[in-house]
This record gives sequence, structure tokens and C-alpha cells, in this order.
Amino acid sequence: MKTQATQLNAVIGYPLSHSRSPMLHNPVYKRLKIDAILVPFSHRDVRALVAAIRALPIHLTAVTMPHKQTIMPLLDAIDPDAKKVGAVNTVVNRQGKLIGYNTDIDGIRYALRDTKLRNRTVLLIGAGGAANAAASAVRKAGGKLLYMNRTAKKAQALRKRFGGEVCSEQALNAEAIDVIINATPLGMHPDEKRIPIPERLLRKGQTVFDLVYNPPQTKLLVLAKRRGARTVSGLDMFAVQGLRQIELWTGKKIITTKLVETVKRNLLKSL
Ligand code: NAP
Repeated sequence: MKTQATQLNAVIGYPLSHSRSPMLHNPVYKRLKIDAILVPFSHRDVRALVAAIRALPIHLTAVTMPHKQTIMPLLDAIDPDAKKVGAVNTVVNRQGKLIGYNTDIDGIRYALRDTKLRNRTVLLIGAGGAANAAASAVRKAGGKLLYMNRTAKKAQALRKRFGGEVCSEQALNAEAIDVIINATPLGMHPDEKRIPIPERLLRKGQTVFDLVYNPPQTKLLVLAKRRGARTVSGLDMFAVQGLRQIELWTGKKIITTKLVETVKRNLLKSL
């Protein structure tokens, strides 16, 4: 039951019809007996959304596309890791001061927790906000980055920020790649037949991590598994980036493997 003391949280973006954040947050609030509700606020103008966060006030805000970068200059402070990545997916309202964080990095670290990265060659496809978070996580873990992106200039920008090399698909072979990370929307519902790289680059012994979580088993992951690779679904990352938002807001440690698996099961029902 919602009361007068119920705290208001939000997910903001434009458009927002596909956001699964309410389905992630609200059952966790109930489970942890937190008197709060997370609702979607969709608006094209990020300034209007930030004004609403300050006025209502909104305590915790999950930020999605296209506002992850444009919200940054409107905040009072930004966590150094989010600054490095150049994107904010979380805003915590601390007594009227809006602080920006990036919990995609935590989600990626969790998803790759069992993957050896030190001195391993990691092919990162895509160069947007999520690819920046992935590059940061791989770099911190000592991996060697190879970048591939439709717009070469954006791949070069990643190389300058996190080191590594920009490569072309033609110059690559499966033996040279230990880990593949897809940070493009290729393969996402409703374009489920698409894959971001040719099948010949997949092999036994690789780990293939697809950030796309709808569907949870993308065509890339199905093909990778068929070739004997280890696969990691974007659902692990999505669950943890959301749970970490709640941790930053409440200041309490809540992430356990058991809770992550419960959240994933709940989310699967909505996909
Ligand atoms: P973004 O900033 O818009 O970047 C998208 C990237 O994908 C860009 O590099 C873009 O290339 C590339 N791309 C888009 N359409 C393409 C196409 N048709 N062919 C080739 N490349 C294409 O998006 P983002 O926030 O980084 O998100 C990327 C993906 O990660 C999305 O699928 C999103 O759902 C997923 N994601 C998952 C989680 C999770 O928790 N699992 C969290 C965040 C994001 P250009 O540079 O050429 O435009």
C-alpha cells in the first residue's frame, strides 16, 4: 500500500515505452520494505525533467536514452567514473543536490565477474554510452581492447580515452579474440535476426557478452553457444545496474547472487 510518506522515484527518457526499470525497481522495493514507487516520466526536453526532479522532489532517477549525456551539465556533481565514461544513468537527490553516477559499469563488471580479462584480447563492438562503460571496465581489469564501430570516428575517440586499437572486420580472425562484447542494439527485439559480427569470428573457448537483454538469448549468443563459446546475457548487467541504483540511493548493500537471480526471473516474465 502506498502512503503519504511514499517516496517518488522515476525513470526518465524519450520515448520510454520499452523501459523495464519499473518492473525491476518496484518488486525490489516491496521485497526490501522500502516505501517508494518508481514511475516513468517521458519528455523530450531533459531540462524539464531535471526541473521536475528538483521540484517534486524525485529521490532516485534512472536515466535512459537520449538523456544519459545531456543531463550531465544540469547536475550538481558527477561521480569520477561516470565523468570518465561520459554518461550518467543514475541521479541521486541528496538533500536537494543532484549527484550523477554510472551503474552500467557495475552491471558490466558483474556480468564479466567469471571472465578472465587480464592480458586477454577483447573485441568491443559499438562506441556509444554503453561501449564507453564496457571499455572502462575492461581497461580497469587489464584487458587489451579492439574497437569496431559503424562510425570510425567514435571508435577512435574510445581508443584515445581507454587505449587499445581500432580494427576492421576483414582484418580479424576468431583465434585472435578471447572475449567479444556487443554494445550495439543489433539483435534487439524486433530485429532479432541481426548479428553485429560474422559467425566466423566465434569459436570455442571465447566468452561472448551481449549487452542486449531483449531477447535474453540473442542470435549472437545462440550462434556463439553452438560454436562452443561461453555466453553472458545482458540480463545480468541490467539486473545489477538497477540494484546498484537502489544501493546508491539507500546507502545499503543489497546485491547478492540470490537477489540478482530473483530480479532476472521477474524480468524474464516481462520480456
Ligand atoms: P548508443 O549510445 O545509442 O550507441 C549505440 C551504438 O551502436 C553506436 O556505436 C552505434 O554506432 C551502434 N549502432 C546502432 N545501430 C547500429 C546499426 N544498425 N549498425 C551498426 N551499428 C549500430 O546506445 P547505448 O546506450 O550505448 O546502448 C547500446 C546497446 O546496449 C543497446 O542495445 C542497449 O539496449 C544496450 N544496453 C544494455 C544495458 C543493460 O543493462 N543490459 C545497459 C545499457 C545499454 P554509431 O556510432 O555509428 O552510431
